Amino acid sequence: SEHLLEVHDLQVEFGGDDGPVPVLRGVSWHVDRGETLAILGESGSGKSMTAQVIMGILDTPPARISGGSVRWNGRDLLGLPEPARREVRGRGVGMVFQDSLSALNPVLRVGPQIGETLRTRLGLSRREARDRTVELMRQVRIPDAEQRYRQYPHHFSGGMRQRAVIAMALALSPDVLIADEPTTALDATVQVQILRLLQALQEESGMGLVLITHDFGAVASIADRVAVMYAGRVVETGVVRDIFRRPAHPYTKALLDAVPRADRRAGRLAALPGQPPVLGKESTGCPFRFRCPLAEAVCEEREPVLKEHAQGHWSACHLGKDVIADVLTAHS
Ligand code: SF4
Ligand code: MG
Repeated sequence: SEHLLEVHDLQVEFGGDDGPVPVLRGVSWHVDRGETLAILGESGSGKSMTAQVIMGILDTPPARISGGSVRWNGRDLLGLPEPARREVRGRGVGMVFQDSLSALNPVLRVGPQIGETLRTRLGLSRREARDRTVELMRQVRIPDAEQRYRQYPHHFSGGMRQRAVIAMALALSPDVLIADEPTTALDATVQVQILRLLQALQEESGMGLVLITHDFGAVASIADRVAVMYAGRVVETGVVRDIFRRPAHPYTKALLDAVPRADRRAGRLAALPGQPPVLGKESTGCPFRFRCPLAEAVCEEREPVLKEHAQGHWSACHLGKDVIADVLTAHS
C-alpha cells in the first residue's frame, strides 16, 4: 500500500580519492498520515542526510545518490525535475532544520519572515499574508501574536524563536513535517514544551511527523514508531513500546542502557563506549561488531539484513530474536 512518505533502500556515497565511500547504505522507512516516526541515532549515523535527500538539498558535495527511492504520496521525488521538486518542498514536506535558531534573520521582523513564503509561493497580498501569519503564530502558541509579529528575533526567547521557525515550516500546510533535532539548543523545560507542541500540531492537522533525534526521552514522549540508525543503516525499527520493552538489536539495547533509569522519560543519552566505524572503512560484516558485547565469528563475515522478528518489529542482527531478548535481558 501507498505511504504518505516512504524512503526505500536509499544509498548515498561520497566521491573520494580511493573511489566512492558509501554513507547511506540502504535506508528504508515510512511515515503515514496522523503518525509520528522518530529517527534515532548518534550524530554521523546518517539521520540528517536522509532528510536532506528528501528535501532535495543534499548539499555536501561530492555526495551522490546512488540508489533507492523517495516517494511522497506515491510520487517518486528523486526523479522529479527541480521546479516540480521545489513545489513539493514546503507544501508537501516541510522541514525544521538543525540549528534552526539561526534561520531567523536578526535584522528583519519575525512576522514578515514567517509570512514571506506565503507571498512568494502562494501569491498572497501583504495583508492576506499578515493575517495568515498571525494565525500561524497563534497555532504554534506564540502569545500576543499581533504584537510579536512586529518584533525582531532578539525580542524572542530561544523557545519562542523555535516556535517561529516551526510556524515557518508549517506556512504552506505540508502533509509531512520533518524536524531535525528541534530541541537541542534549548533548556530542558523548553525542550518538553516544544515536543508537546509538535505532538499537538501533528494531532490537530493529521500530518505525518518525522522527528530526527539522539534523545530517547523525546522518542518515548511523542513517537509512535522509531527507526534506529547506525553507520548509515536502519538497524532496528518498530512500534516504540515494543522497542522499549524488547529491543531486538544490541545497539538499541546499549542506547537504552545509556539512559539513566530516572531520566528515561525526559533524559538524554549518555555517551556509548566506543566509536562508530569510520565511514567506508568497513566493507564486510556487521557495522556494530566493534562495540557489540555479543559479537560472534559470523558477525565479521556477513552483514546482517533487516528481518521481521515479530509483527512490525524489524532488526538487523545475526542472533535470533529469542537469543537477543534472552541475552539482553540477562545482561540488564
Ligand atoms: Fe552484534 Fe553480531 Fe548482532 Fe552485529 S550481528 S549486532 S555484531 S551480534
Ligand atoms: Mg544531524
